[in-house]
Amino acid sequence: MDLKQYIIDKSKELNIDIIGFTDCEPLFHLKEYLVMRQKENKETEFEEKDIEKRIDPKATFPDCKTIIVIGLSYNNDFNQEPKEGLTGKLSKSSWGLDYHMVLEKRMENLIKEIEKIKEFRFKSFVDTGPLIDRELARKAGIGYYGKNCSIINYEYGSFIFIGYILTDLDINIDPILLEEECRECNLCLKSCPTSALESPYIFNPKICISYLTQTKERIPYELRSKMGNNIYGCDVCQKSCPKNKNINRVNHEDFIPKDRKGYINIEEILSISNKQFKEKYGSMAGSWRGRNIWRRNGIIALGNTKDRENLQILKSLLKDPNPMIREYTAWAILNIDYRYGIEVIGDILEYEQNKVVKQEIKRLINYFATKNIQV
Ligand code: SF4
Repeated sequence: MDLKQYIIDKSKELNIDIIGFTDCEPLFHLKEYLVMRQKENKETEFEEKDIEKRIDPKATFPDCKTIIVIGLSYNNDFNQEPKEGLTGKLSKSSWGLDYHMVLEKRMENLIKEIEKIKEFRFKSFVDTGPLIDRELARKAGIGYYGKNCSIINYEYGSFIFIGYILTDLDINIDPILLEEECRECNLCLKSCPTSALESPYIFNPKICISYLTQTKERIPYELRSKMGNNIYGCDVCQKSCPKNKNINRVNHEDFIPKDRKGYINIEEILSISNKQFKEKYGSMAGSWRGRNIWRRNGIIALGNTKDRENLQILKSLLKDPNPMIREYTAWAILNIDYRYGIEVIGDILEYEQNKVVKQEIKRLINYFATKNIQV
């Protein structure tokens, strides 16, 4: 029996959209680029720091011979922005059930099918492995790199989740590398609000809105203004991409937003308890950084409305038990109305016990004072 064809056939039965195979040779061609990113501080805290582990599959699984890479499309088109209320956006990648669980289940089922005919050893990953999954996907013929650094598949576009299984299986590898098709197009580069796509195929993740919505580092003030009402992720560079139009939409049930999950009510998020948050949003990929990161992003979103009507909601958060929330609230209030902000924040400063928060609020006041003089 042809093992490769057997795996491909089983993947179709298991509702896996795309499958490819690649070898375990180290990705030496990426080393220089990764070292440069580290030196330029363009590496995020979510990435593996050990470059050898990032490029060498055998550093993770010494007996690795073949890597099976799978792709699942999540280019759903079901959500409608609610008309009422203050709404925050969630990336498509967080509309439904946590994709880690969905892909892990698909890979687990595929592994079981392979085990029916062959004993083998493996290690599987979705997002959390040290290797550069996009490069594995490219090598396995899943897609080509777009200028926005996403992997683009001819049939499904770039809204695809990637998972991979390192195996000790001997499989004949002859991937058909997909030819790059961006050509003269530069739409994604033009659409990025923070210019995180510095040039074609060159991406600075530290200023990408998707990263900013997840980091616990203090977000630079100028970048907060560009975050709009994004609560988790940002799909702008993919939404602007023509390769995501007129493509195969599979609409996997798991990724369809239920109960308006494509958008969230910011007011609800600001007052939600930890328990309620876990119950309502805990099964979504975007909730992994916890309630307070969503609340922080909700505050930034309110600040970005520049609407005085939101000042009352914000004012109540100046006494929030979480120091980060107090800091960002001060930013949002000052961003909406500097004079009002100076008044209410001045009062709060008197009672603020946390030295770091106090210092940050003073820094904010200076920053906005300078900005206001310039205006
Ligand atoms: Fe390529 Fe244009 Fe899509 Fe960017 S928007 S990835 S340049 S096709």
